[in-house]
Amino acid sequence: MQHARQFFIDGKWTDPIDGTDFPVIDPSTEEVCETISLGGKADAEAAIAAARKAFASWSWSSKAERLDLLKSIREVYARRNEEMGHAISMEMGAPLDMAISSQAASGIEHIDDFIRTLEDFEFEGRKNPGTEEDRILHEPIGVCGLITPWNWPMNQVTLKVIPAIAAGCTMILKPSEQAPLSSILFTEFLAEAGVPAGVYNMVNGDGAGVGTVLSGHPDIDMVSFTGSTRAGIAISRNAADTIKRVALELGGKGANIVFADADEKAVKRGVLHCFNNTGQSCNAPTRMLVERSRYDQAVEEARETAEKVAVDIASKNGRHIGPVVNEIQFNKIQGLIEAGIKEGARLVAGGIGRPEGINRGYFVRPTVFADCNNQMTVMREEIFGPVLSMMPFDSEEEAIAIANDTPYGLTNYIQTQDGAKANRVARRMRTGMVDINGKFRSGPAPFGGYKMSGNGREGGKWGLEDFLEVKAVGGWFPGA
Ligand code: NAD
Repeated sequence: MQHARQFFIDGKWTDPIDGTDFPVIDPSTEEVCETISLGGKADAEAAIAAARKAFASWSWSSKAERLDLLKSIREVYARRNEEMGHAISMEMGAPLDMAISSQAASGIEHIDDFIRTLEDFEFEGRKNPGTEEDRILHEPIGVCGLITPWNWPMNQVTLKVIPAIAAGCTMILKPSEQAPLSSILFTEFLAEAGVPAGVYNMVNGDGAGVGTVLSGHPDIDMVSFTGSTRAGIAISRNAADTIKRVALELGGKGANIVFADADEKAVKRGVLHCFNNTGQSCNAPTRMLVERSRYDQAVEEARETAEKVAVDIASKNGRHIGPVVNEIQFNKIQGLIEAGIKEGARLVAGGIGRPEGINRGYFVRPTVFADCNNQMTVMREEIFGPVLSMMPFDSEEEAIAIANDTPYGLTNYIQTQDGAKANRVARRMRTGMVDINGKFRSGPAPFGGYKMSGNGREGGKWGLEDFLEVKAVGGWFPGA
């Protein structure tokens, strides 16, 4: 990759001032597929200075200028989407077809959504009808530090970079050091699309280095972070001294409530959803709660479904699942499967070790535990692998209590054909999102969590507003 060891600062590809080589490992082969540079303090500070300088002009750019830039980015991205899919597949192990059609393509969807959102957005307006001399002005918050994870790399990057541009902010992106190749390519797209110097900067680095400089620097006005709850807490602490806005999108432990009257595909759909992206999604439905009269049948369906899930290398075409991202995650997942067995959950599919016939790569067996209780480690911790935990429930009240009994609050799922029950339970979920009967939220919708799943909302006008300050003006001269 041409710019693998470089950063993008002030409109130019730049050699590191303070860089350290870092190998990017292909998780299917455990081999080094690229070497990048992790930046240091001086690199991060150079990018912050460029963004600060550019804010003076970009914050006054017109809606038309921002729309033109977003449309150019969209054009380059769509033309090079397949290249993007290959980069994502190699760096984090998403199977190629899925990496192109889902991982990479999610970036185009978000760009389209933000173009529509920006077209409709009113940056200046009256407070209420009849308040002619009052104005509410929405203004860009300033210089933003954008820190992203490896599991849905372009989904996360576009949910931050695109609305920040649309808002008139300038930024420094620090992608995950585990999946940096897609962001280097994305930076090429932005350079080709003609992003003005300093508006968008990209510095590779780790959390302790560049991440910490961004979250603590007085010239950064906002940090938008997606990743683990652990890092979200560290960032919030470090940002407190300079009172930055901190938008957090963190982990999850989604419950999928399957009532006895759920449609016949509900269990299979839930298992496949849990295993999608090899279980590495913050909104994965990892706790399946099944009404007791349907429970035994559901466990059997889950076992059959899991046993049919193929596991293979990411570079192959097909509908299999790939490896997990790296050795640390592999070992963590093995430890959690072991904890499930030790704590008495019934293993009905998968288990410890690699799938049969595979002896290298970070491949995990698609695993199903039954007869769990909600205090077990596998029901409480985010596993981030293809592991489903099931337990029965006896009443609607009990299902709601179990679903909400977690520090997380990102997404819950409900399966029932009784509309009144579905809506009633959806209202009681302490999560930022609820999906009923496998129906995804259409168009731009706010993505984010309650409780320890975070505090921001990404996507649509909610995602744009995260990057805006609100100014209230009295005594405005209407028409002047
Ligand atoms: P991570 O927290 O280890 O790393 C995420 C990013 O933060 C990386 O760029 C990393 O370098 C950086 N980072 C780590 N420590 C930091 C620190 N102290 N200061 C500043 N930056 C720091 O998470 P990960 O393993 O890359 O991603 C997996 C996690 O992300 C899971 O918990 C998952 O649920 C979560 N996630 C959440 C959402 C959401 O929208 N809620 C979406 C995707 C992933």
